[in-house]
Amino acid sequence: MGAGHPYNPLMPELPDLAVLADAFHAAFVGRPVLAVEAPGPLTLRGTPAEQQALVGQQLQRFHRRGKFLWLELDRDRVAINAMLTGRLQLAGDPTVKRPQKTMFVMRFGGRAGGPPDDAAEWTAGASWMPESAATPELRFKDATQMGKVYLLPAGVDRAVPGAGPGEMGPDADDPSLTPGVWRDRIRRHPGELKNLLRNQEFVAGIGNAYSDEILHAARLSPTRKRSSLAPEEVDELYSAARSVLAGAVEILRQRVPPAFETEVRDFMAVHGKGGQPCPRCGHRVTQTEAGGFVTSYCRGCQR
Ligand SMILES: [Zn+2]
Repeated sequence: MGAGHPYNPLMPELPDLAVLADAFHAAFVGRPVLAVEAPGPLTLRGTPAEQQALVGQQLQRFHRRGKFLWLELDRDRVAINAMLTGRLQLAGDPTVKRPQKTMFVMRFGGRAGGPPDDAAEWTAGASWMPESAATPELRFKDATQMGKVYLLPAGVDRAVPGAGPGEMGPDADDPSLTPGVWRDRIRRHPGELKNLLRNQEFVAGIGNAYSDEILHAARLSPTRKRSSLAPEEVDELYSAARSVLAGAVEILRQRVPPAFETEVRDFMAVHGKGGQPCPRCGHRVTQTEAGGFVTSYCRGCQR
């Protein structure tokens, strides 16, 4: 990401992580941990003893909250924050070649039955689902080593920055985030809309790419101030957030597996599409860059 290097970080966001959490929950829950390796010392937050203590515990739940992934084992928990370049791989078998820059690996054993009863429906019968007797691996690779894996043994109070009390609002797709709750929360944030959508304290899970897509769907400019929005525009932003995220999850369920370590963004309307015609009005998409982050929007139809 040096100077002059075109850099558009594909940070995992809610839709990417929602698909991954569904799949990993279905693939790994009910399996005991056989081994834990941490070849990347910068990645792991935890001691070797805590790492070893995971062995033998069965995975009960794998879920997403904001941009974090959580593994709930019999006794302990693990939190993963992929940051910009962290990616997770599902290796059906330990002999599958490890990606470069693999920083953390959990190997799981066989399980008596198939996927758990509460596995997401869309994962049923998937070709990538490891056989019950398989010993699949969860692998975390990270080229920049900015991502973190937190070991959270029962009784140990280790901070998970960004996931603490008050640091995260409701998930952007949370059913309890009604239009009324959205209107109430958004009042506290007067600034520019792109920053607002990416602010995890407002709502959790939206990053650089999906904020552009949501603003395009809502026909609002990324630099518009929230304080300038009419009430119907606040509601339009809510509807756009819900429909863009839900639509992306649907697409990614079809497109991502079994390569969970890849990110699919080619279906987006404007993000990363600078210079191309806006799919809604045909105007050329504007792309700006600040702090290494690309913002794409249409001057033709976003106000
Ligand atoms: Zn347009």
